[in-house]
Amino acid sequence: MENLLKRCGSMAEIRKAGEKNSELAEAWTTSVAPVLDTVAARYSRLKLKVEPITIMDAVTDAEEDAVMQVITTLFPAINPATVTKQQADKDPAFTEWVQQHCRRCQYLFQIRKCDNTECCSVPILLPERMIWLPDPMPDASGDHYLTLDEVMGTDTDDTHRPSTQQSHKHKQATTATTAACVDFFMSEALEKQQKETELFTAQHARAVVSCLECSKP
Ligand SMILES: [Zn+2]
Ligand SMILES: [Zn+2]
Repeated sequence: MENLLKRCGSMAEIRKAGEKNSELAEAWTTSVAPVLDTVAARYSRLKLKVEPITIMDAVTDAEEDAVMQVITTLFPAINPATVTKQQADKDPAFTEWVQQHCRRCQYLFQIRKCDNTECCSVPILLPERMIWLPDPMPDASGDHYLTLDEVMGTDTDDTHRPSTQQSHKHKQATTATTAACVDFFMSEALEKQQKETELFTAQHARAVVSCLECSKP
């Protein structure tokens, strides 16, 4: 087994070898199981805003096969094992289905049942939970984001996501002089303001980062 693994240089190669040799696949699963358990146990102790992190099991081969089966049934022209995004986007059945059931943006990929009962079964979720999760949208001032409650249920797009704002600023910074670049991170007025803030002492701060949401330090 170990010699077999030694010949594999990547996870993809191990998978390929496992397809040919079921003993290898089994040995691999058994040997990584304790590691997976340790990692899962470590993560299960984490909390995000008081809520504990939920650890989910990886998708099983059977579940993956079931999804592949559905794709083949829905889109006969698509081979899910080899299809590329470009090919899928050219398939009218696929694009139409995606348009009716999915929303893709930089942060999230969402799938929802549509209203057509001939296409999808009646949703189990309450109607108020069947809405699309919104993207971050700026308020009237443009300095802050609207709260989740304010954007929930409204039509949004992801052009205002923090990462686009930052790359925009970065672009400005790189085309300007180095001095202006420094200025972007810490203007003189800002520096003065920080000096006045008691907590903001040299011992406490080694670097200043700007808030992605309101671009304040
Ligand atoms: Zn549907
Ligand atoms: Zn902020």
